[in-house]
Amino acid sequence: MITSPHVTLITGGNKGIGFAVARKLGLAGHTVWLGSRDLERGDDAAKQLRGAGVDARAVQLDVTDQASVTDAAAIVTREAGKLNVLINNAGIMFRRSRFVAEETIDEVKQTFETNVFGTLRVTQAFLPLLRKSQPAQIIMMSSGLGSFHDALDFESNIGNVGFGGYRASKAALNMLTIKLARELDDDGIRVNAVDPGFTSTDMTGNDRGHSAEEGARPAVELATKDAFGSSAGFYALSATGDLISREW
Ligand code: NAP
Repeated sequence: MITSPHVTLITGGNKGIGFAVARKLGLAGHTVWLGSRDLERGDDAAKQLRGAGVDARAVQLDVTDQASVTDAAAIVTREAGKLNVLINNAGIMFRRSRFVAEETIDEVKQTFETNVFGTLRVTQAFLPLLRKSQPAQIIMMSSGLGSFHDALDFESNIGNVGFGGYRASKAALNMLTIKLARELDDDGIRVNAVDPGFTSTDMTGNDRGHSAEEGARPAVELATKDAFGSSAGFYALSATGDLISREW
């Protein structure tokens, strides 16, 4: 049985921002479970982290597959018996069209299956384990693209960026964050969303944007500081690198 004081699961932990979060939290002393829809990719990533001295384990977890999520929860229950931090990071974005009027219903559905329903499915499955832990928290990897405030700023670049299906999925995720935060308050489980900022990963074509290490910072800050702090927040890093509240 794992005896670490902080047990953390990161969905989509095998690469990109999720992997960087796992690395940083692992180096800070968390036992990290890398949820990976492809177990081989998860095992490779966990091995890499163990090489850096992190207590990392991989678990097969496809957020769109109920059986996979149920099995993953059973494995973490058996091996750790609790979960302190759930980081709902797994996400997809189709980049073929900038305009929502041209996005296919199938692509928008797939986006919601992963970013919204998958996140809720994982949250529901791991709630019993989170309820056994104090402190416990859920962190949603949202996006500035899910912000109504930013979308309504027609003068800004972000207001005019397309990807409406993806943006709608992250806006829905933001509402789930607030609703869950209110519902789980009595259980002592904090629920917050973070905006990693524009990050160079496979999702964005690995060109512009800051590093995955930088994108990981808001989630890592929340997971490591102020353990019994506020809930129902949406956080990002300021230009000076401080964790700040941002507009929904
Ligand atoms: P990424 O490099 O493409 O990583 C996405 C991760 O999610 C991968 O591990 C991927 O697994 C996993 N994933 C996708 N579908 C899954 C499923 N059905 N079940 C389990 N895992 C699944 O992208 P990223 O940039 O690191 O994105 C991570 C999160 O940050 C996403 O929620 C994204 O929306 C959010 N975000 C990113 C940016 C940015 O600029 N990059 C900005 C704002 C928000 P595979 O390896 O198997 O594909």
